[in-house]
Amino acid sequence: MYQQVGLDQVGIYTLIYCFLSLCFVVPPKEVAAAGITIQNLFAAWLGDETINFMKYHIKRTSLTLFIHSLLPLGYGLMLMYINPKLYLFGFFELSLLKQLGYAAAISLPFSSSVCIFFWSRDNWMHHPLTQKLKHLMPTERNHSVDIVAGTINAELRRPNLFNSGHYSQKVRVTDNWIVKVGTYTVDIVHQANCVLSLHSSEEHTLSEESPYGVQILQIDVRPVDNSQRPFSIRLNSVDYGELRAKLQAPLVNARNVVVRQTVTEQFTAAFADVVGHNIVYNFSAAESGFQLESCLACMQATADVKLVKLCAEEQEGECRQCYCRPLWCLACLSKWFSARQDQSDTSRWLSGTAGCPMCRAVFCVADVCKVRQI
Ligand SMILES: [Zn+2]
Ligand SMILES: [Zn+2]
Ligand SMILES: [Zn+2]
Repeated sequence: MYQQVGLDQVGIYTLIYCFLSLCFVVPPKEVAAAGITIQNLFAAWLGDETINFMKYHIKRTSLTLFIHSLLPLGYGLMLMYINPKLYLFGFFELSLLKQLGYAAAISLPFSSSVCIFFWSRDNWMHHPLTQKLKHLMPTERNHSVDIVAGTINAELRRPNLFNSGHYSQKVRVTDNWIVKVGTYTVDIVHQANCVLSLHSSEEHTLSEESPYGVQILQIDVRPVDNSQRPFSIRLNSVDYGELRAKLQAPLVNARNVVVRQTVTEQFTAAFADVVGHNIVYNFSAAESGFQLESCLACMQATADVKLVKLCAEEQEGECRQCYCRPLWCLACLSKWFSARQDQSDTSRWLSGTAGCPMCRAVFCVADVCKVRQI
């Protein structure tokens, strides 16, 4: 009889192996930040994603498939290592199930290699991503795949794209394209050729991203002409507004999914409500000698708030008079204010204080006045 390693020990090794494999396949933020990802370990071979997005992901998906297919074999080798007498020399005495397990573990990397070899022929022309690119511009079929890929690559390099998600699922939306990068696949659809629908939402009370929990939205993306298969994206509700702003394709919410506002959005509404009850600051361009300019933070809205110490007498209390001219809009000032409060206790935000973004004079909500042009 062969000496057997205790079941407990095999169980512990199995648990550790499964845990490490899971961290490798779906890396949490800490693991990804430490660089233990395929993208980072094989960065030299993969090239630069920003220079050639398509070629990068053709290589990355192939490599990921191959490396992940090695994991069961790695487990088998580990078992052989911890008890060579049982698994290596006594292989034929193992149960049929275990023998089949080993056969599968060996055949997985073999089949993935054959598959990748097939994809890589003719300069990766048979890779699923290249095949998808072929169908992306049905009206311009005489365009080569390289031209389509080049167009998408160029848009993905622009700074104004929508970018969300992490390692195992990234969503990017450019002026014309919606791109979802998954572990083994990349889905691409032209904005003019798809309809998005808000499918469902999940609440996650425990989250590393926010102490208030997060709402994850599932959005289905359906190509109109059925040239590609539909896919779905998962999105933090915090990013929903930004996605809508970037989308040209219709986004329907037929199921009336309620998208939770972010805490900052809720606070902005409450902040504006309180400020609406404060006295207004009359501003005259002729008297002041200058015009109101765009808000310094968003550069979109006109600056429309002035800080005037109203909460107490001149030298009383914590607040100080600010002598800056109106430079910010109300929404941006409220975000500035909320970012300077205790993030773990939202109930005290409205009673808090912050420094003026320019001169640092302390102010509270009672000191924020809407500007009225006269
Ligand atoms: Zn602003
Ligand atoms: Zn100031
Ligand atoms: Zn005050």
